[in-house]
Amino acid sequence: MKCPFCGKENTRVIDSRPAEDNSAIRRRRQCDKCGKRFTTYEKVEVIPLIVIKKDRNREPFDRDKVAAGVYGACHKRPIPAEKINKLIDDIETIVFNREEKEIESSEIGNIVMDKLNELDQVAYVRFASVYREFKDVNTFIDELKKILDKK
Ligand SMILES: [Zn+2]
Repeated sequence: MKCPFCGKENTRVIDSRPAEDNSAIRRRRQCDKCGKRFTTYEKVEVIPLIVIKKDRNREPFDRDKVAAGVYGACHKRPIPAEKINKLIDDIETIVFNREEKEIESSEIGNIVMDKLNELDQVAYVRFASVYREFKDVNTFIDELKKILDKK
């Protein structure tokens, strides 16, 4: 990091600490040449994630939408809120850690289903029934059978 006073490049970090809201790291640096001190901030680069919807329109990823779907599926199930929030966090992490910065909404749906399947079978079926838009009772029963066969 170049010294803002003398322009020399030999500066060193003498102190690092999180900024007030933990969204950045504040570093105190000192120039080896002129001895002056200055501050730098290191922040996470936020790259927006774009969701490709069924109609091919795009919109920014919205955690609240995923959360609403998950909460709806878990309604009145004996699942601690803490676990539900952890699941939503996990989904968000998976989605943001992909290489691509665009994701099909169907892929998000599959990730949510995978996670719900591990958490609670009823919540899983509820989500799947809304998400896959079961056309009739038979598709719904097929899906249930798949779940039961796994046991
Ligand atoms: Zn300097």
